[in-house]
Amino acid sequence: MYSDAHLHPADYIDSCISSDDTGTVSELFAQSISLCCSAHDHTEYERHRSLLQLSESRRVLFSFGIHPQNPVTDEAEFLYRLLETRQIQAIGECGFDLFNDDYKQLLPMQQTVWDMQLRWAQEFQLPTVIHCRKALPLIFDSVARLKKLPAVIFHGWGGSPQEAAAFLKKGVNAYFSLGKAVLRGQKSVCAMAASFDSSRLLTETDAPYMRLKSEPYSHPRDIIAVTAQCAHLRYTGDDTAKHPRVQSLKRIGIIKQYESCTTALEEIDIDEAAVEAFSDIIVRNFNCAFGLSN
Ligand SMILES: [Zn+2]
Repeated sequence: MYSDAHLHPADYIDSCISSDDTGTVSELFAQSISLCCSAHDHTEYERHRSLLQLSESRRVLFSFGIHPQNPVTDEAEFLYRLLETRQIQAIGECGFDLFNDDYKQLLPMQQTVWDMQLRWAQEFQLPTVIHCRKALPLIFDSVARLKKLPAVIFHGWGGSPQEAAAFLKKGVNAYFSLGKAVLRGQKSVCAMAASFDSSRLLTETDAPYMRLKSEPYSHPRDIIAVTAQCAHLRYTGDDTAKHPRVQSLKRIGIIKQYESCTTALEEIDIDEAAVEAFSDIIVRNFNCAFGLSN
């Protein structure tokens, strides 16, 4: 059982279609999985609803949020209606993005929609999914309000274990969702996977957006590689990218930049029991974070 705390299925389907890669659409969520689909506008939300009917093998949650890269209030009324009618299980993604100058100029608007969404998350007591790039101090500024929420899920966490611990110390019921950065070998994220309090970790793909260098887009099935790599880091202390088998596949050009991570991980004898133990913990955390019963 896997869990993907943050992805965009409608955008993923669009990416497949525009790359003429329709074959992968049918693979969507072939494995048993819990997931939270994140939408930014009403069309996307409706598409998620029709794409993802409940099935025995998956637990599907829906979230809706005004994204900091497009911090306009056009969809605010729609969001409030979803809240009133209890149709979403989380607000988000929302937060701050100061990654480049264009986004930096949006800061006053980002602050306005952030404040509004935090207020509503508190009013409706819903977990909040946070998007944050180069703006962690702004999230820290909101700690007093974040403490009043049932849970705060940092999607695509890229901070250090010390920064993560600081949120917990301040009394925020925070969860840190790790994505494909573990496959890239990003130090702080690998350190989180290896040794941070395991009851605070989640896994995600952010498909189609969290891609490795030469991938045109990412896939929901990448959750398998993300989970395996996290388990590997935690239980063996190894980085699979450095594994001799992966190195030799790289040398002969089968894996160019470790993109075919799923295949690579299958080639390596990863302890299945370790992966299972780790994914059990993550599924339990997913349920706690989103307020579901285990
Ligand atoms: Zn996202």
